[in-house]
Formats: sequence, C-alpha cells, structure tokens
Amino acid sequence: MKTLPKKCNFLETEKKWQQKWEGIGIYRFDWNDHSRPIFTIDTPPPYPSGDFHMGNALNHTYFDILARYKRMRGYNVLFPQGFDCHGLPTEVETEEHYNIKKTDLAPEEFIKLCNQFVDKYINIMRTAIKRLGCSIDWTTEYQTRNPDYWRKTQLSFIILHKKGYLYQGTHPINYCPRCETAIADAEVEHTPKQGQLHHIKFQLEDGKAVIIATTRPELLSSCVAVAVHPDDKRYKKYVGKAIQVPTTNRPVKIITDELVDPDFGTGIVMICTYGDKADVKCVKTRKLPVIMSIDEAGRMTESAGKYAGMTVQEAKKIILTDLKKQGLLERSEPLQQEVGQCWRCKTPIEILERKQWFMKTLKLTPKVEKTANEITWYPDYMKSRLIDWARSLDWDWVISRQRIFATPIPIWYCKECGEIILAEKEWVPIDPRKEPPKTDKCPKCGSTDFTPEIDVLDTWFDSSISCAVHAGWPHRQDWQKRFPADVHPSGTDIIRTWAYYLMVRHLALFNQTPYKSCLINGMVLGTDGRMMHKSLGNYVATPEVFSKYGADAPRQWAAAGGTTGSDIPFRWPDVEYGWRFQIKLWNAARFASLALKDYTPREKPELQLLDRWLLSKLERATVIATAALEKCQFNTAIEEIRNFTWHQLCDQYIEAIKHRLYNPETYSEEKRKAAQYTLYTAIYRILQLLAPIIPHLTEELYQLMYAEDKKHKSIHASPWPEPDEAIIDEEAEKYGDLAIAVIGEIRREKAEKSIPLNTQIKTLTIHAGSKKSAHIIDQALEDVQGTCKIQKIIVIPRKGEGREVQDCPNVRFITTY
Ligand SMILES: [Zn+2]
Ligand SMILES: [Zn+2]
Repeated sequence: MKTLPKKCNFLETEKKWQQKWEGIGIYRFDWNDHSRPIFTIDTPPPYPSGDFHMGNALNHTYFDILARYKRMRGYNVLFPQGFDCHGLPTEVETEEHYNIKKTDLAPEEFIKLCNQFVDKYINIMRTAIKRLGCSIDWTTEYQTRNPDYWRKTQLSFIILHKKGYLYQGTHPINYCPRCETAIADAEVEHTPKQGQLHHIKFQLEDGKAVIIATTRPELLSSCVAVAVHPDDKRYKKYVGKAIQVPTTNRPVKIITDELVDPDFGTGIVMICTYGDKADVKCVKTRKLPVIMSIDEAGRMTESAGKYAGMTVQEAKKIILTDLKKQGLLERSEPLQQEVGQCWRCKTPIEILERKQWFMKTLKLTPKVEKTANEITWYPDYMKSRLIDWARSLDWDWVISRQRIFATPIPIWYCKECGEIILAEKEWVPIDPRKEPPKTDKCPKCGSTDFTPEIDVLDTWFDSSISCAVHAGWPHRQDWQKRFPADVHPSGTDIIRTWAYYLMVRHLALFNQTPYKSCLINGMVLGTDGRMMHKSLGNYVATPEVFSKYGADAPRQWAAAGGTTGSDIPFRWPDVEYGWRFQIKLWNAARFASLALKDYTPREKPELQLLDRWLLSKLERATVIATAALEKCQFNTAIEEIRNFTWHQLCDQYIEAIKHRLYNPETYSEEKRKAAQYTLYTAIYRILQLLAPIIPHLTEELYQLMYAEDKKHKSIHASPWPEPDEAIIDEEAEKYGDLAIAVIGEIRREKAEKSIPLNTQIKTLTIHAGSKKSAHIIDQALEDVQGTCKIQKIIVIPRKGEGREVQDCPNVRFITTY
C-alpha cells in the first residue's frame, strides 16, 4: 500500500473529485438497466432565488445521503434536479430593480428581463449544489420555463380539464393588491400586527343607536348586514330590524350568526364583502348581496361613494375623520390582531371576487387523508401536518394568476358565443396570448373570432407534477416503472404547499399517490436559536461555509445536527468538529498506510482478542448505522460511526497494537499480520459507512489505499457492507472491554503521576477478582504488556489491593517502576 502524505488539502480534494465524478458520470441514472431495482428521489426543484442558504444545504445533504446510500445498496438511483423558474418573486424583483410595473412593457420584454434574473440565479444555485457534492444526475436537469416543460404543465391542464377537475368561477379569493394577482391560501402568511379597533355608532330606525366594533371602517360601504350571536341576550330585541350604515345611506338588517364572538368588541359586528373568511361564509349561507368597494389595484371603487379612487389606507383615515365629525366614532383602542399578508411582498391581502380558474381540490381531501396514512413518513408524526392542512381548507385551489412570467393557460374564448376552446394535446406548448387556437371555427357557433385567456398558471401548477415528470411522463412509454417516487423530500415549511399540491395533482391526474414516502427536514435556526434570517443578523451564507470548510464538514453538521424533521441550529463549532474528525480520520488512515506498507490482502490470520473485539464492535456499528440509514435517521448513523472511529479505533485499538506492528520479532509475524488485517478491514469499512455523508474524503482515501485491491471505480460504486449480526461476538467485546479498561487505567495512572507514557513499568500485579477475569486478561496479556511497556506482569485470580480499574470494581493493580 502507498503511504499517505502527512496532510490533505480537503478543499482541493473536494473540487478534484467533483470534477472527476462528473467526468466519469457515475451518478447517471441508467434508463435501460433492467437488472437493478430502481430508487427514485423526487428532488424538489428550487425556486431560483439566487440564495442557496443553509436550509438548502441541510435538505440537499439529506437527499444526497439517501441517494448515495441507495446506490451502494445496489439501486439504480434516479436523482434528478430541476428549477422552478416562474413566479411572483422574480416578477417583483424585476419590477423593483427596473422601477417599473409589469404592464409598462410588452409582455415579451418583461419576460426577457425576468429570464435574465433566472439565468443568473440558476447558475448560482447549480454551482452551490455541485459544491455541496450532491450526486445529481445533471443530464436530467429541467427548467419549468422551457417549452418542453410548458408542454407537460399544459398537458396536465388539458387532462384535468377533460376529467372535470377544473372550472372557472367567480368566487371570493385572496388577492394581493400590490402584486395584482390572486394568491392561494398557502401563500397567505398570518402575522400578528398592532391594529386599532374602532367603535362606531349605527343608527336604528327608532332613533336609538348601537355600537359596532370594527378594525376596517373603510369597508363600511361594503357592509351588507350587521350580526350578533344568536344567544346574545343584549341584542335579541334588535334581530330582524333595519339599521343605517354610517357614511352610506343604506339600511341593512341585523342578523344572527354563530361565528360572531359575543366577547369581541361590543359583540355586534359588520358583515362586509369581504372583510375576512367568516364574511365569505355568512354571505354565502345568507345569500347576501356582494358590494365590492376595493378594486384589484387596492383602490376604493365607485361603490365607496366619495372615497372612490383613494387607496385603502387613505380611505380609512378620511372615513375615520368624517365619522368623528359626525359624532359617530365613539372611540378607538389598540388591538393585537392577526393579519393575512402576501407571502412575497407582505402587503395585507384583500378578499375579492373575480373570475378565476379553480381546481376541485376540496373533494379530494378524503383521498389525501387516506393516502397520507398509507405512505411512510420520516418522521411519522409529520403526516398530520398534511392531513390537518387539507382539512383546514375552505376553498378550492385558485390556479389562475394575473401575472405574466408563467405558463399560459391553454384556453381561448369564442368572441361571439363565449364558448371555451381548450387546446388539443397536440397543440401544446402554446401561448394563447400570441397564437390563435389551431381550429378554424368555434364548434358551437362557427365564429372565427377568438380571444385568448390572458391569465396564467400558478407556479405550483408547474412544479406539482414533478413526480410524474421525473419518472419520464409523458414521453417515456414505461414511465410508470419509476412512479410513484420512492421518496419525496420536503421541509416542514412546505408540506402544505409542496407535499399537498403534488398529492392532489397526481391523485387527480393518475389516481395514484405521487410518492411512497416523505422525508421531512426541519428549518435551520441561527446560533441564537431563532429562525435564521438575514434581517435577524444571525444569517450564515453557504459560500462562506464552503470556502472555509468545504462540503464534507458542513454535511456532517447537517447529518448530525438533530433528528430528522426537527429544526436544527447552525453552529460553527459543529462544522469545526466535522473538520477535526476529518483530520483524525486522515491521520488514522495515514498510520494504517505506514503500517500496511508491506501488507497484501490475503487469507485471514489468527486474530487476537483485541482484533476480534474491534471487528465485533465494528460489525455492531455497521448494523446500527445501516438500520438508521434505512429509517433516514442520519444523526444516529453518523454519531455511531464517528464515535467508533474516534474512540474504539483511534484512541484504543491503534494504541494497543503498535507494539505488535513495530516488533514482530518479539510478538511474532502472525500477530503483526492479525493487526494489519484488522486495520485494513476496519478502515475500509469505516470509509464505506461514511461515504454517503462524507463523500469526498472517503473517496480520496479509498482511491489512495484500496482502489488497487478492491477494483471498484469509486467508493460510491462499492457495495454497501451487508450488516451481519452473526459476526457480533459478545464475548470478545466483553473481554476486550476489560483489557481496554486495564490499559486505560494504567495510562491514566501514568498521566496522574506525570510519568511519560513510554516509561517502563518494572512489574504490574493485577488482582483480577476472579478466575474468569484472570483468564480474560491472560488472553490480552501481550497487548497490555506491550502497550503499557511492562517488563513483568503477574495476574492473581483473586480480589486484592491496588488501584481500581474504572467500570471494573473487582479488578485492581499495583505498579512498580
Ligand atoms: Zn404581494
Ligand atoms: Zn362561438
């Protein structure tokens, strides 16, 4: 075996292997292989934000550990990577960067500007994913903005439309007035805010007045009823009577509604179209009229009378002043309230009515629940997040957006009769905004005049078919062979979007679950325990980590940081620990390479007690690590292997065999060979067990030490060591522990007495406590003697005087120097 250099430049080594792996293409999925079982990973296509943050590093490490582990277990692993390109954030960034509104430019020009950001950011993200050492098959890369992907998204629209899952309707929807688009429930963030509760006087017909509490006086012109709780005795007498809405001269009825909280404000509230979701429910069940006073740009409409044209904020201020003047504003008090705001721009959302496209997702809820219960979750308790979310939804999924940079909806309308013309499967990809339908006339009235659908699709409508797309749908005939995905990885924050949309879309399209299991990662917290965020000053960028510590060390942080699914803090000391572990591993391997200079792997020599002890412990570590990886318990796996390497191998075993390796003339060649065999076997096994987590350094060591003998082109192409509990030798472990404890105690005594470790001990008298212990110590006598530099050892099979050995209370010894 070649001798390893003293030091290894980890950063250079990582770059070298990343290039070599890509060059030899060892992570390519073999589409034509029919012999190996297939394992497919539904890699989430990240949004090209240009920021590959520590959360991305955490989840990509999870996927990659799994991919590498499964490859070693003999699977043909499909580990694809896409980019989810469209969407609001890029449009908002483009608008902000160029100080324009999306409508200031021709759509193509606006899209061009958006694409420039996406190009730049995809490059940054791709580089970061590669730098982390992810074993992606880059030949599978796709981008949802490309025509080929449009085709898939539009095809799925056509299929769902034909299956009756899509409809157009005028329903209340969440709407961001700044972004001027509909947004889904999942995109509404609920944040606590300090607001004001205004007590406003409403006149009854008989001249009396009641006080109504509201946070939104600007919606007075949209007030269509006033409601009290049915059991509220204070207001019983008023129910059914008419009441005048201030600032408008409209009377509305006083009604009862179970949803009114008698303890909120005065217990009597406005029902407006629409203040919140409770209003939507009440208006629907009572069939109340809808008066929209806020338009899509967030300005007051004609319905608001003299306030028309003002922004919501302006109107609120002036209405309050007017109410005060008229003596109708009783008082205003501060109120801690929860406000729904746009996930992207943080503008408070409005609930508006506008014709939109919807997907019938609510009727799928029982199926989502059933499927969620059938698949495997890592960790199991996370399934309730999906189920609870599905159950909490009040509305179908609004899939149309009033945006530009997105997949177009493949629909036209007949100008004459309004008939919907749905694109044929052969027409897509197509942009109705640019092209007419490929038909000569309206099938209903024969008109040849069409108008395109100018709304576009929600970005989640693009990405929520990834499981089928990764499998090769629709162009590969045998795509079902790779479907459902074996694992769908998701963050705790995107279960309600990512995991949910995938589920409803694939259930509706193919009547099948999209994934067999769901692997959940938690969020990365800052060192202060709060969410890691740029605005909190606890943000650590991945390039900083990569340039200091490369990829293997932060990968160890990600794997070891906590149980799968839990939030984990980013801690520099954890990364540094990983780095130090790599140095420790390198040094142990280098020691072995020196000791194995003349070693050629051959038949197993007769092993000594400590050799059997180490190999049994190693087998146990293999069993534990393998079981942990099977259950995606990455922290258990890495801790097991790191502890074994650091303590049993480096601190204990290597120290206890040096005398055998260096002095074969004293201890025999056979015993030296036994130590060599053990070292050779143990280090190879450790490299294999660590390969999925620490892919670069293990590859470097494998290539330098083992490639010639083992003949795999990479450690990542070597078969995973089959864990075998039968190899575990309980007796050898117990006996070895005793011998190791004695050696440890002698070394501790030397250290306490400030005697150099290599100082000779004249005699060591061990009181073994029993015949059995004496027999055990006899078996390791040479290793104890050699390691501790003892001239003469006397073992007495009885209890006696002396220094007590830690954890072996009946074993004591006396040393003389
Ligand atoms: Zn917005
Ligand atoms: Zn027509």
